[in-house]
Amino acid sequence: MATSEQNTISVRNPRTGQTDYTFFVPSATALNHTCTQLRAGQVGWAKCSIDDRIAVMQQWKTEVENHKTELVEALCADTGRQWETLLEADIVASSIDRWCSISKAFFATPIRKASSIPFLEIQQDLVPYPLVGVISPWNFPLLLSLIDTIPALLAGCAVVVKPSEVTPRFVEVINKTIAAVPFLGSVLAYVQGAGHTGAEIVNNVDLVCFTGSTATGRKVYQAACDRFIPVFLELGGKDAAIVLAGADLQLATSALLWGSTANAGQSCLSVERIYVQSTIYEEFVELLTQKASAVSLAFPAMNDGKIGPIISDKQVTIIDDHLRDALEKGAKITTGSTQCQNLGGGYYCRPTVLTNVNDSMKIMTEETFGPLMPVVAFDTISDGIALANSTVYGLSGAVFAQTTAQAIEVGQQMHCGAVSINDAALTAIMHEGEKNSFKMSGIGGTRMGPSAIKRFMRQKVFLIKNNTAPDPWHFA
Ligand code: NAD
Repeated sequence: MATSEQNTISVRNPRTGQTDYTFFVPSATALNHTCTQLRAGQVGWAKCSIDDRIAVMQQWKTEVENHKTELVEALCADTGRQWETLLEADIVASSIDRWCSISKAFFATPIRKASSIPFLEIQQDLVPYPLVGVISPWNFPLLLSLIDTIPALLAGCAVVVKPSEVTPRFVEVINKTIAAVPFLGSVLAYVQGAGHTGAEIVNNVDLVCFTGSTATGRKVYQAACDRFIPVFLELGGKDAAIVLAGADLQLATSALLWGSTANAGQSCLSVERIYVQSTIYEEFVELLTQKASAVSLAFPAMNDGKIGPIISDKQVTIIDDHLRDALEKGAKITTGSTQCQNLGGGYYCRPTVLTNVNDSMKIMTEETFGPLMPVVAFDTISDGIALANSTVYGLSGAVFAQTTAQAIEVGQQMHCGAVSINDAALTAIMHEGEKNSFKMSGIGGTRMGPSAIKRFMRQKVFLIKNNTAPDPWHFA
C-alpha cells in the first residue's frame, strides 16, 4: 500500500502481489461535511418508527443480495480467498434479519410505571447516539464493517464506516447498494482511508466502535477519552485451547485444525495456542500433524484448496518473524512452513504444527494471525488452565473433555469472554451469545447477542408527578 501526495492510496492484490487498485481519500473538510450531513439525516431517522427503519434495512438486505455476485467478486480480489467470502456475504443477510427482529422489542411503546413513591411515576425512553463511527480491519472486510453498523442503524443512529485501507474494493459495491435504498444514504456513509482518516472519524462522531489491533485500539481509546465519547474496542487475541485426557481426539484435532487455520489463521478468534494433557500429547500431535499435512493451499486457483494467501504483506513479516524466532529458540515443526512461501506473487503459509515451544517465544505470547498451531503438554488440569491464562489477551478459548460438565468447569476458569465447548472458534459462526472481550482484547459491552443494541442508545427517564399536592419535601 502506498499513499501519494494527491491523497490517493494504491493497494496490493494479495494473490498477485501487484498494485492493481487505487482509491481517493477524502480531505478532513470533506469528511467533516459528510458527518454533518449524516447528523442532519439522523434527526428524521430517529423519529421514524422502528417498523419504518426495519423496512429500510430489509430493502438494503435485498440490494445486498441483488449485488451478491459483484460483492463477492470484489471481496475475493480484496482478500484472495473465496470460501470465507461466501460465508461472510451470507452472514450479513442473516444478521440483518436477526437484528430486525431483536430491535423491535427494544422500541416497544414506553410504558409508564408506578414508582416506590405513590404520586410519582416513571417512563423510560431510549435516545440513540446521533453519529456512530465504525472503524474496521481487513480480515473480514464486509462482515466487520457491518457487525456494529446494522444494530446502530436500527437503534436510530447515523453511521460513518471507515473500513481497512488494505481491502477497499468491496466499498464501491456496498455504495451501490446504499444508493439503491431510499433514505439509507442520508444516515449511512462509507469513507475510505488509512489511519489518518480513522483518527478523523474519532474526532467527528459521538460513539466509536473499533475493531482492530490492540496497538491501534489504544490510540483510539486515548483519542476518544480526550473527547469524552464512549468507545467499544474489539481487539487482538491469542486464544488458547485446552485438551484433557478422555476428550475425543478425532473431534478435537479436526475442530482445532479448522479453528486455527480457517481463513489462513487471520481471525482474532483463531486458536493460537494448544495445551494438551501429557498422557495424550503424542497421540494428539500425531493426529493433528497427519490432518494438517493433508490440507492444501488455495493455489493456483482460489477454489483449489482450503488455505488462501496472507492478505496483508505486513502480516507476512509478522508470521515469518514468529516462525524464525521460534525455530531459533528450539521449536520443531512436525508439518507446515518454516516461512511464508511466495507463489505467483501471493504469500502463503501452510497449516503448521510446532512442538518444543515455550513462553520465551513470540509464537506463544504475541498475536501471530497466521495458520500456526504450537502444541504444549501439561500435567495437571490446573497447570493447563494457568498456561492458557498466561497471556495479556482474553478474547475466547476452547476446551475439549470427556464430558460437557468437565469442559465447562475448566472453561469457567479461563480468563476470556467466550469458550467453545468440545468445539473451536465458534464465535466465527454464531453471534447469538453475549460476551465481553477480557483483558487487552477489548473494552465495552457485548457486540454479540440481543443486548448489543443497547450500546447505541442512552437511557432517559421521565419522572412524572401525578397529583397537584405539594411534595412532602417542599419547603412550603
Ligand atoms: P489495525 O489496528 O492496523 O487497523 C484497524 C483499523 O484501524 C483500520 O481501518 C485502520 O485504517 C484504522 N486505524 C489505523 N490507525 C488508526 C488511528 N490512529 N485511529 C483510528 N483508526 C486507525 O488492525 P488490522 O491489521 O487492520 O486488523 C488486524 C487486527 O484486528 C488483529 O489484531 C485482529 O485480532 C483484530 N481483530 C479483532 C477482532 C475482534 O472482534 N476482537 C476482529 C477482527 C480483527
